[in-house]
Amino acid sequence: MTTGWSTGSTGSTEEAERRHVGTLIIGSGFAGLGTAIRLSREGNDDYLVIERGSEVGGTWRDNTYPGAACDVPSHLYSYSFELNPNWSRSFSPQPEIQQYLRDTAAKYGVLDKHLFDTDVTLARWDNDSRRWLVDTTSGAFSANVLIGAVGALAEPALPEIDGIDTFAGEIFHSSRWNHDADLRGKRVALIGTGASAIQIGPELAGTVGHLDVYQRTAPWVLPRGDRPYRRIEQLAFRHVPFAQRLAREAIYWGRELLVLGFAYQPRLLQAVQKIAQKNIARGIADPQLRKAVTPDWQIGCKRMLISNDWYPTLARDDVDLITDGIAEIRPDAIVTKDGTVRAVDAIVVATGFHVTDSPTFERIVGAEGRSLADVWSDKGQQAYKGSAVHGFPNLLFVIGPNTGLGHSSMVYMAESHINYVASALAEMQRHGLATFDVREDAQRRYNERLQDRMGNTIWTTGGCASWYLDAHGRNTTLWPSFTFLFRRMTRKFDRHAYETTARADQPVPQEVHAA
Ligand SMILES: Cc1cc2nc3c(=O)[nH]c(=O)nc-3n(C[C@H](O)[C@H](O)[C@H](O)COP(=O)(O)OP(=O)(O)OC[C@H]3O[C@@H](n4cnc5c(N)ncnc54)[C@H](O)[C@@H]3O)c2cc1C
Repeated sequence: MTTGWSTGSTGSTEEAERRHVGTLIIGSGFAGLGTAIRLSREGNDDYLVIERGSEVGGTWRDNTYPGAACDVPSHLYSYSFELNPNWSRSFSPQPEIQQYLRDTAAKYGVLDKHLFDTDVTLARWDNDSRRWLVDTTSGAFSANVLIGAVGALAEPALPEIDGIDTFAGEIFHSSRWNHDADLRGKRVALIGTGASAIQIGPELAGTVGHLDVYQRTAPWVLPRGDRPYRRIEQLAFRHVPFAQRLAREAIYWGRELLVLGFAYQPRLLQAVQKIAQKNIARGIADPQLRKAVTPDWQIGCKRMLISNDWYPTLARDDVDLITDGIAEIRPDAIVTKDGTVRAVDAIVVATGFHVTDSPTFERIVGAEGRSLADVWSDKGQQAYKGSAVHGFPNLLFVIGPNTGLGHSSMVYMAESHINYVASALAEMQRHGLATFDVREDAQRRYNERLQDRMGNTIWTTGGCASWYLDAHGRNTTLWPSFTFLFRRMTRKFDRHAYETTARADQPVPQEVHAA
Protein backbone atom coordinates (compact mmCIF):
# COMPACT_ATOMS: atom_id res chain seq x y z
CA MET A 1 0.00 0.00 0.00
CA THR A 2 2.92 2.30 -0.30
CA THR A 3 4.64 4.48 -2.83
CA GLY A 4 7.79 6.48 -2.56
CA TRP A 5 10.65 4.14 -3.38
CA SER A 6 12.61 4.32 -6.57
CA THR A 7 13.10 1.33 -8.80
CA GLY A 8 16.62 0.23 -9.42
CA SER A 9 18.83 -2.66 -10.25
CA THR A 10 21.38 -4.35 -8.09
CA GLY A 11 23.25 -5.77 -11.06
CA SER A 12 22.06 -9.23 -12.13
CA THR A 13 18.91 -9.88 -14.14
CA GLU A 14 17.33 -11.74 -11.26
CA GLU A 15 18.08 -8.85 -8.93
CA ALA A 16 16.71 -6.28 -11.40
CA GLU A 17 13.24 -7.16 -10.14
CA ARG A 18 14.01 -5.82 -6.71
CA ARG A 19 12.60 -2.45 -5.78
CA HIS A 20 15.34 -0.23 -4.46
CA VAL A 21 15.12 2.19 -1.58
CA GLY A 22 17.74 4.29 0.18
CA THR A 23 16.90 3.18 3.72
CA LEU A 24 14.77 0.21 4.66
CA ILE A 25 13.40 0.09 8.19
CA ILE A 26 12.13 -3.21 9.59
CA GLY A 27 9.41 -2.72 12.20
CA SER A 28 7.07 0.07 13.12
CA GLY A 29 6.89 0.23 16.89
CA PHE A 30 8.11 3.25 18.81
CA ALA A 31 11.61 2.70 17.34
CA GLY A 32 10.84 2.20 13.63
CA LEU A 33 8.06 4.74 13.54
CA GLY A 34 10.24 7.30 15.30
CA THR A 35 13.02 6.67 12.77
CA ALA A 36 10.61 7.12 9.85
CA ILE A 37 9.34 10.40 11.28
CA ARG A 38 12.88 11.67 11.79
CA LEU A 39 13.86 10.88 8.22
CA SER A 40 10.75 12.59 6.87
CA ARG A 41 11.31 15.64 9.05
CA GLU A 42 14.84 15.90 7.68
CA GLY A 43 13.48 15.89 4.14
CA ASN A 44 14.66 12.35 3.39
CA ASP A 45 11.84 10.60 1.57
CA ASP A 46 13.90 7.75 0.20
CA TYR A 47 12.93 5.17 2.79
CA LEU A 48 10.40 2.43 3.40
CA VAL A 49 9.14 0.80 6.60
CA ILE A 50 8.27 -2.88 6.39
CA GLU A 51 5.99 -4.10 9.14
CA ARG A 52 4.50 -7.56 9.54
CA GLY A 53 1.53 -6.26 11.54
CA SER A 54 -1.40 -4.52 9.95
CA GLU A 55 -0.70 -1.14 11.54
CA VAL A 56 1.93 0.78 13.49
CA GLY A 57 2.39 0.27 17.22
CA GLY A 58 4.52 -2.85 17.75
CA THR A 59 4.27 -3.74 21.44
CA TRP A 60 1.16 -1.59 21.81
CA ARG A 61 -0.59 -3.10 18.82
CA ASP A 62 0.14 -6.67 19.92
CA ASN A 63 -0.39 -6.56 23.70
CA THR A 64 -4.13 -6.09 24.02
CA TYR A 65 -4.59 -8.22 27.13
CA PRO A 66 -6.94 -6.97 29.86
CA GLY A 67 -5.15 -4.49 32.10
CA ALA A 68 -2.33 -3.76 29.62
CA ALA A 69 -0.72 -0.41 30.45
CA CYS A 70 2.71 1.17 30.57
CA ASP A 71 4.69 1.07 33.80
CA VAL A 72 6.72 4.20 33.08
CA PRO A 73 4.57 7.34 33.37
CA SER A 74 3.13 8.40 30.01
CA HIS A 75 4.58 11.91 30.10
CA LEU A 76 7.98 10.25 29.83
CA TYR A 77 6.87 7.17 27.91
CA SER A 78 6.15 9.15 24.72
CA TYR A 79 8.13 10.91 21.99
CA SER A 80 9.95 14.10 23.03
CA PHE A 81 8.79 15.77 19.82
CA GLU A 82 5.15 14.80 20.32
CA LEU A 83 4.12 15.43 23.89
CA ASN A 84 0.52 14.55 24.59
CA PRO A 85 -1.34 16.78 27.04
CA ASN A 86 -4.37 14.50 26.94
CA TRP A 87 -3.05 11.38 28.69
CA SER A 88 -5.95 10.27 30.83
CA ARG A 89 -3.82 9.02 33.71
CA SER A 90 -0.23 8.74 34.86
CA PHE A 91 0.18 5.21 33.49
CA SER A 92 -1.91 5.11 30.34
CA PRO A 93 -3.73 1.99 29.23
CA GLN A 94 -2.73 0.18 26.03
CA PRO A 95 -5.58 1.48 23.80
CA GLU A 96 -4.56 5.06 24.56
CA ILE A 97 -0.87 4.43 23.79
CA GLN A 98 -1.78 2.64 20.58
CA GLN A 99 -4.04 5.52 19.53
CA TYR A 100 -1.23 7.97 20.31
CA LEU A 101 1.09 6.03 17.96
CA ARG A 102 -1.56 5.88 15.21
CA ASP A 103 -2.23 9.62 15.54
CA THR A 104 1.47 10.45 15.55
CA ALA A 105 2.08 8.38 12.41
CA ALA A 106 -0.82 10.12 10.66
CA LYS A 107 0.19 13.60 11.84
CA TYR A 108 3.73 13.27 10.48
CA GLY A 109 2.50 11.81 7.21
CA VAL A 110 4.58 8.64 7.25
CA LEU A 111 1.86 6.04 6.74
CA ASP A 112 2.28 5.97 2.97
CA LYS A 113 5.90 5.04 3.57
CA HIS A 114 4.80 1.82 5.27
CA LEU A 115 4.29 -1.60 3.81
CA PHE A 116 2.08 -3.44 6.30
CA ASP A 117 1.22 -7.13 6.63
CA THR A 118 4.66 -7.90 5.28
CA ASP A 119 7.19 -10.11 6.99
CA VAL A 120 10.88 -9.69 6.26
CA THR A 121 11.96 -13.28 5.69
CA LEU A 122 15.62 -12.67 4.81
CA ALA A 123 17.95 -9.69 4.64
CA ARG A 124 21.42 -10.42 3.29
CA TRP A 125 24.31 -8.11 2.53
CA ASP A 126 25.53 -8.29 -1.05
CA ASN A 127 29.23 -7.43 -1.33
CA ASP A 128 29.06 -6.84 -5.11
CA SER A 129 26.27 -4.30 -5.17
CA ARG A 130 27.11 -3.04 -1.66
CA ARG A 131 23.44 -3.23 -0.80
CA TRP A 132 21.09 -5.14 1.44
CA LEU A 133 18.92 -7.59 -0.46
CA VAL A 134 15.71 -7.97 1.45
CA ASP A 135 13.16 -10.70 0.80
CA THR A 136 9.68 -10.24 2.17
CA THR A 137 6.28 -11.86 1.91
CA SER A 138 5.30 -8.98 -0.42
CA GLY A 139 8.24 -9.08 -2.81
CA ALA A 140 11.95 -8.36 -2.96
CA PHE A 141 13.72 -5.11 -2.14
CA SER A 142 17.20 -3.73 -2.00
CA ALA A 143 18.47 -0.96 0.22
CA ASN A 144 21.65 0.99 0.83
CA VAL A 145 21.05 1.04 4.57
CA LEU A 146 19.05 -1.35 6.74
CA ILE A 147 17.56 -0.28 10.06
CA GLY A 148 16.61 -3.07 12.47
CA ALA A 149 13.77 -1.81 14.64
CA VAL A 150 12.38 -5.27 15.29
CA GLY A 151 11.82 -4.95 19.05
CA ALA A 152 13.29 -6.93 21.93
CA LEU A 153 9.90 -8.01 23.24
CA ALA A 154 8.19 -8.91 19.99
CA GLU A 155 8.59 -12.70 19.74
CA PRO A 156 6.46 -14.53 22.32
CA ALA A 157 8.31 -17.28 24.23
CA LEU A 158 6.18 -20.33 24.98
CA PRO A 159 7.19 -22.58 27.84
CA GLU A 160 8.44 -26.04 27.02
CA ILE A 161 6.10 -28.14 29.12
CA ASP A 162 5.32 -31.79 28.44
CA GLY A 163 1.91 -32.17 26.85
CA ILE A 164 1.28 -28.45 26.25
CA ASP A 165 0.29 -29.24 22.65
CA THR A 166 -2.35 -31.69 23.83
CA PHE A 167 -4.32 -29.13 25.82
CA ALA A 168 -7.90 -29.18 24.51
CA GLY A 169 -9.14 -25.82 25.81
CA GLU A 170 -8.22 -22.25 24.91
CA ILE A 171 -4.53 -21.52 25.29
CA PHE A 172 -2.81 -18.33 24.22
CA HIS A 173 0.15 -16.05 24.97
CA SER A 174 -0.43 -12.73 26.72
CA SER A 175 0.78 -10.83 23.65
CA ARG A 176 -1.61 -12.71 21.35
CA TRP A 177 -4.77 -12.40 23.43
CA ASN A 178 -7.72 -14.28 21.99
CA HIS A 179 -10.58 -11.83 22.43
CA ASP A 180 -13.03 -14.41 21.09
CA ALA A 181 -12.36 -16.69 24.03
CA ASP A 182 -15.05 -16.21 26.65
CA LEU A 183 -13.34 -16.86 29.98
CA ARG A 184 -16.28 -15.84 32.16
CA GLY A 185 -17.02 -18.44 34.80
CA LYS A 186 -14.21 -20.73 33.55
CA ARG A 187 -11.35 -22.35 35.47
CA VAL A 188 -8.37 -20.43 34.14
CA ALA A 189 -4.65 -20.96 34.68
CA LEU A 190 -2.25 -18.05 34.40
CA ILE A 191 1.33 -19.22 33.86
CA GLY A 192 3.92 -16.63 34.87
CA THR A 193 4.18 -13.79 37.37
CA GLY A 194 6.08 -11.18 35.35
CA ALA A 195 5.13 -7.69 34.19
CA SER A 196 2.26 -8.82 31.94
CA ALA A 197 0.90 -11.45 34.35
CA ILE A 198 0.56 -9.02 37.23
CA GLN A 199 -1.56 -6.77 35.02
CA ILE A 200 -3.68 -9.66 33.73
CA GLY A 201 -4.34 -11.51 37.02
CA PRO A 202 -6.34 -8.77 38.76
CA GLU A 203 -8.49 -8.31 35.63
CA LEU A 204 -9.32 -12.02 35.39
CA ALA A 205 -10.00 -12.60 39.09
CA GLY A 206 -13.68 -12.24 39.82
CA THR A 207 -14.61 -12.57 36.15
CA VAL A 208 -13.43 -16.12 35.68
CA GLY A 209 -14.82 -18.90 37.87
CA HIS A 210 -11.47 -19.72 39.44
CA LEU A 211 -7.92 -18.55 38.77
CA ASP A 212 -4.77 -20.63 39.34
CA VAL A 213 -1.58 -18.57 39.17
CA TYR A 214 1.54 -20.63 38.45
CA GLN A 215 4.63 -18.92 39.85
CA ARG A 216 8.20 -20.01 39.15
CA THR A 217 9.92 -17.06 40.82
CA ALA A 218 8.19 -14.41 42.90
CA PRO A 219 8.72 -10.84 41.66
CA TRP A 220 9.17 -7.75 43.83
CA VAL A 221 6.11 -5.57 43.36
CA LEU A 222 6.02 -1.90 44.36
CA PRO A 223 2.90 0.23 44.81
CA ARG A 224 1.68 1.80 41.59
CA GLY A 225 1.37 5.58 41.94
CA ASP A 226 -1.31 5.75 39.29
CA ARG A 227 -4.15 8.26 39.14
CA PRO A 228 -6.35 9.94 36.55
CA TYR A 229 -5.29 13.44 35.46
CA ARG A 230 -7.72 16.18 36.36
CA ARG A 231 -9.10 18.37 33.57
CA ILE A 232 -7.26 21.36 34.99
CA GLU A 233 -3.96 19.49 34.77
CA GLN A 234 -4.60 18.54 31.17
CA LEU A 235 -5.43 22.18 30.39
CA ALA A 236 -2.22 23.29 32.10
CA PHE A 237 -0.24 20.74 30.10
CA ARG A 238 -1.77 22.12 26.91
CA HIS A 239 -1.67 25.85 27.58
CA VAL A 240 0.95 26.68 30.21
CA PRO A 241 4.32 26.88 28.51
CA PHE A 242 6.79 24.26 29.74
CA ALA A 243 4.32 22.69 32.25
CA GLN A 244 4.42 19.36 30.48
CA ARG A 245 8.16 19.54 29.81
CA LEU A 246 8.66 20.18 33.52
CA ALA A 247 6.50 17.20 34.47
CA ARG A 248 8.48 15.06 32.04
CA GLU A 249 11.82 16.27 33.36
CA ALA A 250 10.75 15.59 36.95
CA ILE A 251 9.77 12.02 36.08
CA TYR A 252 12.98 11.54 34.11
CA TRP A 253 15.33 12.66 36.87
CA GLY A 254 13.38 10.84 39.59
CA ARG A 255 13.83 7.60 37.66
CA GLU A 256 17.44 8.29 36.84
CA LEU A 257 18.18 8.35 40.58
CA LEU A 258 17.41 4.61 40.63
CA VAL A 259 20.47 4.02 38.45
CA LEU A 260 22.61 4.84 41.47
CA GLY A 261 21.20 1.74 43.15
CA PHE A 262 20.99 -0.50 40.07
CA ALA A 263 24.40 0.16 38.64
CA TYR A 264 26.62 1.76 41.27
CA GLN A 265 25.58 1.13 44.89
CA PRO A 266 23.10 -1.77 45.07
CA ARG A 267 22.73 -1.33 48.84
CA LEU A 268 20.86 1.93 48.13
CA LEU A 269 18.01 -0.25 46.91
CA GLN A 270 17.39 -1.64 50.40
CA ALA A 271 15.04 1.28 51.10
CA VAL A 272 13.10 0.42 47.95
CA GLN A 273 12.94 -3.23 49.01
CA LYS A 274 11.35 -2.17 52.30
CA ILE A 275 8.58 -0.40 50.38
CA ALA A 276 7.97 -3.61 48.43
CA GLN A 277 7.88 -5.65 51.65
CA LYS A 278 5.23 -3.27 53.03
CA ASN A 279 3.27 -3.71 49.81
CA ILE A 280 3.16 -7.46 50.50
CA ALA A 281 2.11 -6.92 54.11
CA ARG A 282 -0.61 -4.49 53.03
CA GLY A 283 -2.07 -6.83 50.43
CA ILE A 284 -1.77 -10.24 52.09
CA ALA A 285 -2.64 -11.31 55.65
CA ASP A 286 -1.86 -15.04 55.41
CA PRO A 287 1.77 -15.63 56.57
CA GLN A 288 2.22 -18.65 54.29
CA LEU A 289 1.10 -16.74 51.23
CA ARG A 290 3.26 -13.79 52.23
CA LYS A 291 6.24 -16.12 52.37
CA ALA A 292 5.41 -17.60 48.97
CA VAL A 293 5.35 -14.18 47.30
CA THR A 294 8.51 -12.85 48.95
CA PRO A 295 11.50 -13.14 46.61
CA ASP A 296 14.79 -14.55 47.90
CA TRP A 297 16.86 -12.17 45.76
CA GLN A 298 17.50 -8.45 46.02
CA ILE A 299 15.08 -5.97 44.53
CA GLY A 300 16.21 -4.65 41.15
CA CYS A 301 17.93 -7.89 40.12
CA LYS A 302 14.88 -8.70 37.99
CA ARG A 303 12.51 -6.08 36.64
CA MET A 304 10.78 -4.22 39.48
CA LEU A 305 7.06 -4.45 38.95
CA ILE A 306 4.32 -2.08 40.07
CA SER A 307 0.78 -2.93 41.12
CA ASN A 308 -1.67 -2.09 43.87
CA ASP A 309 -3.93 -5.06 43.23
CA TRP A 310 -1.60 -8.00 42.56
CA TYR A 311 -1.25 -9.07 46.19
CA PRO A 312 -4.95 -8.55 47.05
CA THR A 313 -5.74 -10.66 43.97
CA LEU A 314 -3.58 -13.52 45.20
CA ALA A 315 -5.27 -13.29 48.60
CA ARG A 316 -8.75 -13.86 47.11
CA ASP A 317 -10.63 -17.11 47.88
CA ASP A 318 -11.19 -17.79 44.19
CA VAL A 319 -7.48 -17.44 43.35
CA ASP A 320 -4.72 -19.97 44.15
CA LEU A 321 -1.00 -19.32 43.93
CA ILE A 322 0.83 -22.49 42.91
CA THR A 323 4.57 -22.67 43.36
CA ASP A 324 5.28 -26.37 42.90
CA GLY A 325 6.32 -26.17 39.29
CA ILE A 326 4.48 -27.64 36.35
CA ALA A 327 5.31 -31.23 35.44
CA GLU A 328 2.86 -31.79 32.63
CA ILE A 329 -0.17 -30.42 30.83
CA ARG A 330 -3.03 -32.78 29.94
CA PRO A 331 -5.97 -32.07 27.62
CA ASP A 332 -8.04 -30.80 30.55
CA ALA A 333 -5.63 -30.28 33.44
CA ILE A 334 -2.28 -29.07 34.72
CA VAL A 335 -0.21 -31.48 36.81
CA THR A 336 2.37 -30.04 39.20
CA LYS A 337 5.62 -31.71 40.28
CA ASP A 338 4.06 -32.78 43.61
CA GLY A 339 1.54 -34.84 41.60
CA THR A 340 -1.51 -32.60 42.10
CA VAL A 341 -3.87 -32.55 39.13
CA ARG A 342 -5.87 -29.32 38.69
CA ALA A 343 -8.68 -29.26 36.15
CA VAL A 344 -8.55 -26.24 33.87
CA ASP A 345 -10.64 -24.89 30.97
CA ALA A 346 -8.25 -22.25 29.61
CA ILE A 347 -4.59 -21.32 29.94
CA VAL A 348 -3.05 -17.87 29.61
CA VAL A 349 0.69 -18.08 29.01
CA ALA A 350 2.48 -14.97 30.28
CA THR A 351 6.03 -16.25 30.06
CA GLY A 352 7.67 -13.36 28.24
CA PHE A 353 9.58 -13.13 25.00
CA HIS A 354 12.58 -14.40 23.06
CA VAL A 355 14.86 -11.54 24.01
CA THR A 356 18.40 -12.82 23.57
CA ASP A 357 17.52 -15.52 21.03
CA SER A 358 15.06 -13.80 18.71
CA PRO A 359 14.27 -15.73 15.50
CA THR A 360 14.91 -12.46 13.65
CA PHE A 361 18.63 -12.94 14.21
CA GLU A 362 18.55 -15.91 11.84
CA ARG A 363 17.10 -13.77 9.09
CA ILE A 364 19.85 -11.15 8.89
CA VAL A 365 22.94 -12.37 7.03
CA GLY A 366 26.15 -10.34 6.89
CA ALA A 367 29.09 -9.87 4.55
CA GLU A 368 30.61 -13.28 5.26
CA GLY A 369 27.40 -15.16 4.68
CA ARG A 370 26.78 -15.74 8.38
CA SER A 371 23.57 -14.80 10.15
CA LEU A 372 23.47 -12.68 13.29
CA ALA A 373 22.28 -15.78 15.17
CA ASP A 374 25.36 -17.64 13.99
CA VAL A 375 27.80 -14.82 14.74
CA TRP A 376 26.29 -14.31 18.19
CA SER A 377 26.07 -18.02 19.04
CA ASP A 378 29.43 -18.15 20.89
CA LYS A 379 29.39 -15.01 22.98
CA GLY A 380 25.79 -13.89 22.89
CA GLN A 381 24.39 -10.83 21.16
CA GLN A 382 26.63 -7.81 21.05
CA ALA A 383 26.90 -4.64 19.05
CA TYR A 384 28.82 -1.39 19.04
CA LYS A 385 26.84 1.18 21.02
CA GLY A 386 23.89 -1.21 20.85
CA SER A 387 23.50 -0.43 17.16
CA ALA A 388 26.21 -1.61 14.72
CA VAL A 389 27.59 -5.13 14.31
CA HIS A 390 30.97 -5.87 12.74
CA GLY A 391 30.58 -7.77 9.46
CA PHE A 392 27.09 -6.36 8.86
CA PRO A 393 27.81 -3.22 6.84
CA ASN A 394 25.23 -0.44 6.63
CA LEU A 395 23.06 -2.03 9.31
CA LEU A 396 22.05 -0.11 12.41
CA PHE A 397 19.71 -1.30 15.12
CA VAL A 398 17.41 1.07 16.91
CA ILE A 399 17.30 -0.51 20.35
CA GLY A 400 19.74 -3.36 19.90
CA PRO A 401 21.81 -5.32 22.44
CA ASN A 402 22.45 -3.77 25.88
CA THR A 403 20.03 -0.89 25.44
CA GLY A 404 17.19 -2.13 27.67
CA LEU A 405 16.27 -0.40 30.92
CA GLY A 406 14.95 -1.53 34.26
CA HIS A 407 13.94 1.93 35.38
CA SER A 408 12.99 4.34 32.63
CA SER A 409 11.48 4.88 29.22
CA MET A 410 12.61 2.84 26.24
CA VAL A 411 11.35 5.65 24.05
CA TYR A 412 14.21 7.78 25.37
CA MET A 413 16.67 5.06 24.33
CA ALA A 414 15.03 4.72 20.91
CA GLU A 415 15.26 8.46 20.32
CA SER A 416 18.94 8.37 21.26
CA HIS A 417 19.57 5.69 18.65
CA ILE A 418 17.51 7.61 16.13
CA ASN A 419 19.94 10.51 16.57
CA TYR A 420 22.74 8.07 15.80
CA VAL A 421 21.00 6.78 12.66
CA ALA A 422 20.23 10.30 11.41
CA SER A 423 23.82 11.31 12.02
CA ALA A 424 25.13 8.21 10.19
CA LEU A 425 22.98 8.94 7.14
CA ALA A 426 24.12 12.58 7.15
CA GLU A 427 27.78 11.48 7.35
CA MET A 428 27.29 9.09 4.42
CA GLN A 429 25.88 11.93 2.41
CA ARG A 430 28.49 14.47 3.46
CA HIS A 431 31.48 12.21 2.82
CA GLY A 432 30.10 10.31 -0.15
CA LEU A 433 30.24 6.97 1.64
CA ALA A 434 28.90 3.80 0.10
CA THR A 435 29.45 1.63 3.18
CA PHE A 436 30.34 1.70 6.84
CA ASP A 437 31.23 -1.36 8.91
CA VAL A 438 32.14 -1.03 12.56
CA ARG A 439 35.73 -2.10 13.21
CA GLU A 440 36.04 -5.40 15.08
CA ASP A 441 38.41 -3.90 17.68
CA ALA A 442 36.10 -0.94 18.34
CA GLN A 443 33.18 -3.29 18.94
CA ARG A 444 35.26 -5.61 21.13
CA ARG A 445 36.65 -2.83 23.31
CA TYR A 446 33.21 -1.27 23.69
CA ASN A 447 31.72 -4.57 24.86
CA GLU A 448 34.60 -5.36 27.20
CA ARG A 449 34.10 -2.02 28.93
CA LEU A 450 30.37 -2.57 29.05
CA GLN A 451 30.64 -6.06 30.55
CA ASP A 452 33.19 -4.75 33.08
CA ARG A 453 30.64 -2.17 34.17
CA MET A 454 28.02 -4.94 34.43
CA GLY A 455 30.03 -6.71 37.13
CA ASN A 456 29.04 -4.31 39.91
CA THR A 457 25.39 -3.98 39.03
CA ILE A 458 22.44 -5.41 40.91
CA TRP A 459 21.64 -7.58 37.86
CA THR A 460 24.89 -9.46 38.42
CA THR A 461 25.18 -9.33 42.21
CA GLY A 462 21.49 -9.51 43.19
CA GLY A 463 21.23 -13.31 43.36
CA CYS A 464 18.66 -13.99 40.65
CA ALA A 465 18.44 -15.55 37.20
CA SER A 466 16.52 -13.23 34.90
CA TRP A 467 15.62 -12.76 31.26
CA TYR A 468 18.25 -10.05 31.22
CA LEU A 469 20.87 -12.83 31.07
CA ASP A 470 21.54 -15.00 28.02
CA ALA A 471 22.43 -18.68 27.80
CA HIS A 472 26.04 -17.78 28.67
CA GLY A 473 24.94 -15.94 31.84
CA ARG A 474 25.96 -12.59 30.32
CA ASN A 475 23.75 -9.56 30.57
CA THR A 476 23.39 -8.59 26.93
CA THR A 477 20.09 -6.79 27.30
CA LEU A 478 20.51 -3.86 29.70
CA TRP A 479 22.29 -0.53 29.52
CA PRO A 480 24.35 -0.45 32.74
CA SER A 481 24.41 3.26 33.48
CA PHE A 482 22.58 6.59 33.32
CA THR A 483 20.50 7.10 30.20
CA PHE A 484 21.85 10.62 29.66
CA LEU A 485 25.27 9.02 29.11
CA PHE A 486 23.73 6.78 26.45
CA ARG A 487 22.18 9.88 24.88
CA ARG A 488 25.55 11.61 24.82
CA MET A 489 27.31 8.52 23.44
CA THR A 490 24.89 8.22 20.50
CA ARG A 491 24.59 11.94 19.72
CA LYS A 492 26.89 11.73 16.73
CA PHE A 493 27.98 8.98 14.34
CA ASP A 494 31.66 8.36 15.14
CA ARG A 495 33.11 7.58 11.72
CA HIS A 496 36.55 6.81 13.17
CA ALA A 497 35.17 3.57 14.68
CA TYR A 498 34.14 2.31 11.25
CA GLU A 499 35.76 1.03 8.08
CA THR A 500 34.21 2.96 5.24
CA THR A 501 34.23 2.80 1.45
CA ALA A 502 33.47 5.63 -0.93
CA ARG A 503 30.72 5.70 -3.52
CA ALA A 504 31.92 5.02 -7.06
CA ASP A 505 31.08 8.58 -8.09
CA GLN A 506 33.29 10.07 -5.35
CA PRO A 507 36.75 11.52 -5.93
CA VAL A 508 39.57 9.47 -4.41
CA PRO A 509 40.13 10.75 -0.88
CA GLN A 510 43.02 13.20 -0.38
CA GLU A 511 45.03 10.98 1.95
CA VAL A 512 45.08 8.17 -0.64
CA HIS A 513 46.55 10.63 -3.22
CA ALA A 514 49.25 11.58 -0.75
CA ALA A 515 50.21 7.97 -0.21
C1 LIG B 1 3.36 -5.53 27.76
C2 LIG B 1 4.55 -4.63 27.63
C3 LIG B 1 4.59 -3.44 28.35
C4 LIG B 1 5.69 -2.60 28.24
N1 LIG B 1 5.72 -1.45 28.97
C5 LIG B 1 6.78 -0.63 28.87
C6 LIG B 1 6.84 0.58 29.62
O1 LIG B 1 5.96 0.90 30.39
N2 LIG B 1 7.94 1.36 29.49
C7 LIG B 1 8.97 1.03 28.65
O2 LIG B 1 9.95 1.78 28.55
N3 LIG B 1 8.93 -0.11 27.91
C8 LIG B 1 7.87 -0.93 28.01
N4 LIG B 1 7.84 -2.09 27.27
C9 LIG B 1 8.93 -2.38 26.33
C10 LIG B 1 8.48 -1.98 24.90
O3 LIG B 1 8.63 -3.10 24.11
C11 LIG B 1 9.29 -0.78 24.40
O4 LIG B 1 9.05 0.31 25.27
C12 LIG B 1 8.92 -0.31 22.99
O5 LIG B 1 7.55 -0.31 22.76
C13 LIG B 1 9.67 -1.12 21.97
O6 LIG B 1 9.51 -0.52 20.72
P1 LIG B 1 10.25 -1.14 19.46
O7 LIG B 1 9.81 -0.35 18.30
O8 LIG B 1 11.68 -1.28 19.74
O9 LIG B 1 9.73 -2.64 19.38
P2 LIG B 1 8.28 -3.20 19.10
O10 LIG B 1 7.24 -2.30 19.64
O11 LIG B 1 8.28 -4.61 19.53
O12 LIG B 1 8.17 -3.13 17.51
C14 LIG B 1 8.89 -4.00 16.68
C15 LIG B 1 8.11 -4.16 15.40
O13 LIG B 1 8.88 -4.90 14.48
C16 LIG B 1 8.02 -5.75 13.77
N5 LIG B 1 8.81 -6.85 13.22
C17 LIG B 1 9.63 -7.69 13.91
N6 LIG B 1 10.19 -8.57 13.08
C18 LIG B 1 9.73 -8.29 11.84
C19 LIG B 1 9.94 -8.85 10.55
N7 LIG B 1 10.75 -9.91 10.35
N8 LIG B 1 9.29 -8.32 9.49
C20 LIG B 1 8.47 -7.25 9.65
N9 LIG B 1 8.23 -6.67 10.85
C21 LIG B 1 8.85 -7.19 11.93
C22 LIG B 1 7.02 -6.21 14.82
O14 LIG B 1 5.83 -6.67 14.24
C23 LIG B 1 6.82 -4.93 15.62
O15 LIG B 1 5.74 -4.17 15.13
C24 LIG B 1 6.76 -2.95 27.39
C25 LIG B 1 6.72 -4.16 26.68
C26 LIG B 1 5.63 -4.99 26.80
C27 LIG B 1 5.62 -6.27 26.02
